[in-house]
Amino acid sequence: AKAQLFDKEGPVQVTFKDVAGLSEAKQEVEEIVSFLKNPSKYTELGGKIPKGALLVGPPGTGKTLLAKAVAGEANVPFFSLSGSDFVEMFVGVGASRVRDLFRQAKEKAPCIVFIDEIDAVGRARGKNPNMGSNDERENTLNQLLTEMDGFGSNSGVIILAATNRADILDKALLRAGRFDRQIYVELPDLNDRKAIFRVHLRNVKIDESVDVDLLARQTPGFSGADIANVCNEAALIAARKGKSFVQKQDFMDAVDRIVGGLEKRTKITT
Ligand code: ATP
Repeated sequence: AKAQLFDKEGPVQVTFKDVAGLSEAKQEVEEIVSFLKNPSKYTELGGKIPKGALLVGPPGTGKTLLAKAVAGEANVPFFSLSGSDFVEMFVGVGASRVRDLFRQAKEKAPCIVFIDEIDAVGRARGKNPNMGSNDERENTLNQLLTEMDGFGSNSGVIILAATNRADILDKALLRAGRFDRQIYVELPDLNDRKAIFRVHLRNVKIDESVDVDLLARQTPGFSGADIANVCNEAALIAARKGKSFVQKQDFMDAVDRIVGGLEKRTKITT
């Protein structure tokens, strides 16, 4: 896995209709789609297109999905890399990966560069005594800052980064001209859960016993990723029983199973 730290996955098939709920976040990223599709509309009036935005929210809420959907809607390439890939890297490698990534992105502009788990590289410098000093991480972070400053705001490269923890990020990343916009990607409410269930049930053969409203009511606190999991798990449970449709009881069993997993997760982290 280490060999592939980033890849050009575009053209991306994901669009906004794959992202349920998140109406405010979608509204904010719609503007980014517009920047990518029609930059001159903004630059001719003397506007500077933002270089990046930070997607902030709990795990599994659709940050990666939303970033891909921006690329899909604008029909531009999607480059991605994950901050956690740098944690155990040899000295000098992280920074050169970042350089390579931006070189490729500039060649393919307009495009999206997505940095998942940016906190893994972007934690405030020199503030983690337990981890010891991690020069490689700092080098990587510095390279990222250098790259962001190095290209013009109208270069056509827009960087989206995701984190669960905006509060621990190095302030240098949040400065004007870098990630100066934050977009919140929250856990879904009841209506959003219904919408997410509908998206993930599009290709599941359900019978009339399945009630999406009830499922949404029975899954408070679930993320979009948890809901996707329930739908998949229910289909597997039904298949295991040799059914030709997925039924209400299969969903109940799937919810129980996911709730069990969530409880374990909470016990470990607290
Ligand atoms: P992490 O912080 O763990 O990286 P994330 O916020 O980037 O998570 P995604 O990887 O985008 O979350 O979500 C995982 C999967 O969960 C998606 O591929 C999708 O199947 C489902 N999902 C999450 N949120 C939504 C949503 N709002 N609408 C539809 N599907 C969703």
